[in-house]
Amino acid sequence: MKIIDEVKGAMTIAISGHIRPDGDCVGSVMGLYLYLKKALPAAEIDVYLDKPADIFRCISHIEDIKSGFYSEKEYDVFVALDTTDDRLGDVETIYRKARKKINIDHHVSNRGCGDVNIVEPDRSSTAELLYELMDAEMIDEEIAKAIYIGIIHDTGVLRYSNTSPRTLQIAAELIKFGFDFSTIVEETFFEKTYRQTQIMGRSVLESVRFMEGRCIVSMVSRRMMEFYCVTPKDLDGIVNQLQSVKGVDCAIFMYETGTLEYKVSMRSNGKVDVSAIAVKFGGGGHVRAAGCTMNGTYHDNINNLSIEIAEQLENE
Ligand code: AMP
Ligand code: MN
Ligand code: MN
Repeated sequence: MKIIDEVKGAMTIAISGHIRPDGDCVGSVMGLYLYLKKALPAAEIDVYLDKPADIFRCISHIEDIKSGFYSEKEYDVFVALDTTDDRLGDVETIYRKARKKINIDHHVSNRGCGDVNIVEPDRSSTAELLYELMDAEMIDEEIAKAIYIGIIHDTGVLRYSNTSPRTLQIAAELIKFGFDFSTIVEETFFEKTYRQTQIMGRSVLESVRFMEGRCIVSMVSRRMMEFYCVTPKDLDGIVNQLQSVKGVDCAIFMYETGTLEYKVSMRSNGKVDVSAIAVKFGGGGHVRAAGCTMNGTYHDNINNLSIEIAEQLENE
């Protein structure tokens, strides 16, 4: 199947991804946008997404993204990438009105929310899946760069277990376009601002291990975010840092989003299916990386999550 066959004849197309977009989301959305602009020059194409982090400024035409502006248009086609409809945020209303809905994703928790569903949980990233749906001869350096960013962000730069031989083949095809992949990896994935480094340090310092060191948890309150002048975008990578502690099977990181409301991120080494846990609390994700929003006090939330983790580890 090729994406171009699914959008043939469409004069108006909308593209979007999940709220609080990560690298895979931004890379996929922009990769598809650049591709369709080239393939269908006469079509009107709009991209809706929460404002991406500044690190993604290296992606061509990123300034075309409409954030916080939502039209009443009824699009011929709406492509939702790296997400389910309930994580589209305010754009969900536009999605509902679209004449044809296409859902492209790799989350194991996604049952498909479009008229056309291309959901492949074995894919490292939505960006990888998107590459397969493109005609190779239409891909150029800018499209390749966007897709490459998507892949490296969801695979921890091609090192998590979701990286397959095919992922590496695609990465090889992409870097042939000649963009400066090394700088992109450094500047979008590894480099942290001083404030980001400080809040990461504080989170690690205040983390607590439990279940004989098999679990680790840390939290950032709204007051802490104000103190360090950071926003949720600055907290990326903290949960991965916690997960890399020797002996840890499952890491939990949460930050306060409102009164008694926390955004929860979980990571595991595969011994715990964190997607199953996230789904129980209204979220989703992958076996080794998942998230959800939880209401209640920090300690209530840890309690509720640890019951689920303990149950899985006992049945191991
Ligand atoms: P995070 O820790 O928020 O970066 O999320 C880890 C993985 O789980 C990513 O693939 C997210 O897209 C996914 N995820 C996070 N929150 C949710 C949610 N509420 N529903 C579905 N998937 C989620
Ligand atoms: Mn994502
Ligand atoms: Mn993804």
